[in-house]
Amino acid sequence: MNKPAEFNPQVKLETVPVWINGKALAPSGRSGEVFNPATGQVTKKVVFADSSLVDAAVKAAAAAFPAWRDTPVLRRARVMQKFLELLEKNQKALAATLSEEHGKTLDDAMGSVQRGIEVVEFACGIPHLLKGEYSENVGTQVDTHTLRQPVGVCAGITPFNFPVMVPLWMFPLAIACGNTFILKPSEKVPSASIRLAELFQQAGLPDGVLNVIHGDKAAVDALLLHEGVKAISFVGSTPIARYIYETAAKAGKRVQALGGAKNHAVVLPDADLEFAADALIGAAYGSAGERCMAISAVVAVGAAGDPLVKLLEKKAKQIKLGVDMGPLVTRQHRDKVASYIDIGLKEGARLVVDARKQQTPQEGFYLGTSLFDRVTPEMEIYKNEIFGPILIVLRANTIDEAISIINKNPYANGTAIFTGSGGAARRFENEVQVGMVGINVPIPVPVAFYSFGGWKSSLFGDLHMHGTEAVKFYTRTKVVTTRWPHQDTPAPGFDMPTLS
Ligand code: NAD
Repeated sequence: MNKPAEFNPQVKLETVPVWINGKALAPSGRSGEVFNPATGQVTKKVVFADSSLVDAAVKAAAAAFPAWRDTPVLRRARVMQKFLELLEKNQKALAATLSEEHGKTLDDAMGSVQRGIEVVEFACGIPHLLKGEYSENVGTQVDTHTLRQPVGVCAGITPFNFPVMVPLWMFPLAIACGNTFILKPSEKVPSASIRLAELFQQAGLPDGVLNVIHGDKAAVDALLLHEGVKAISFVGSTPIARYIYETAAKAGKRVQALGGAKNHAVVLPDADLEFAADALIGAAYGSAGERCMAISAVVAVGAAGDPLVKLLEKKAKQIKLGVDMGPLVTRQHRDKVASYIDIGLKEGARLVVDARKQQTPQEGFYLGTSLFDRVTPEMEIYKNEIFGPILIVLRANTIDEAISIINKNPYANGTAIFTGSGGAARRFENEVQVGMVGINVPIPVPVAFYSFGGWKSSLFGDLHMHGTEAVKFYTRTKVVTTRWPHQDTPAPGFDMPTLS
């Protein structure tokens, strides 16, 4: 994380603008505060869009749509290629910007930007991805082919925890498919999105194709209800994902809404426990646990339990605050996460590592690592997504019991198993009801050319992000049946055509 110079309340704060029709605008009106979580200081203001600003963004996107839709796909791919080059050149600066507003370490921020860049790399192959199907002579002198056409103005609403990666899951593929786009990033981390829009413009993207607005519920609701918006992509917490899905679907829009998570890792007694513990420590406490694919619950099976908890205890205590692990995003979130330490103790779980006993920097929203053992599925620390550096361990006697615990949980984003047995891993992969599965891989985030998404309360909608499912989400198929009559063509009949 970056610590800027001392905050001076006399200095006028920079304002993060919205980006509409290729221009940065900062009209007066409602605004929000942007913090540096490492210092606890307000560093910027951000414009909050009202319904008229949202309307201006939709109008700009709608006006840009016809020309962009008709831009040959190879030309669109070349703009993507140029954007890819600019992102690579600016990767460090983007990582520094997001680290300053989110709090994650610079190395971690670099990795997350890289995973976003890989989606743009995938989007460069759009000419191949948009190819249709063709069948000759499906009936006498009749041929059929399919087209994939863009849906129109699309919008994306993103969470605070990946200020570059999650927006890049959405708008590059939507735009490569020929759509125009309005991004509403989290108001807690607004700056990186504006930089992305500037870079895309430098790459040759016509004005109005990508627009960025900021704000809270008012801006989101204006997008959900605007009849000019045809599709909504959302990533965030489960209650808001459900709300977005229901509201946008009722307004007749296509929706994909990814929600929260409680990701379990099962550790079998035949696993390499040292390897598993190292993997779990990174997956649980990396990015201070603020990852939707963080492992937040370990299910230790049989004899794996005691030695695994000992290893986790040793390694969790070695994590250095401010070096390995940054602060949480806001004071309120830090306090909420910390309150789960008391909740877990009251519920009777065994607190093995206690964040309250660790040295914490005076300023900023830091919280150390905590580890609970002997947690049961009825406890609140198990049922809720804590989204912070608290790892819990449940015990199970068998792999069946472990799978049953996971399958009863309403969340189903990611999961992992640590084992030396191919048979056990194969069974786990087959029976577990979760969208993304790792085998000796703790955070199984799919590469850009596969699709990312959970099941159950972790996803509302049908199609996942990036990969080929995103191409389906951002396009509509049309099936065309063709006949060119000549003298041998049979006359069209009166009854239901059978084409034979
Ligand atoms: P959040 O749900 O609070 O906010 C997400 C977005 O929704 C933001 O842009 C925010 O401005 C907007 N929003 C918030 N409240 C709203 C309301 N009442 N009405 C309309 N819009 C509203 O999520 P967050 O705290 O920013 O991010 C953390 C959450 O995101 C966690 O639950 C995490 O698991 C989840 N997440 C999920 C994935 C995934 O792929 N499934 C990825 C990243 C984060």
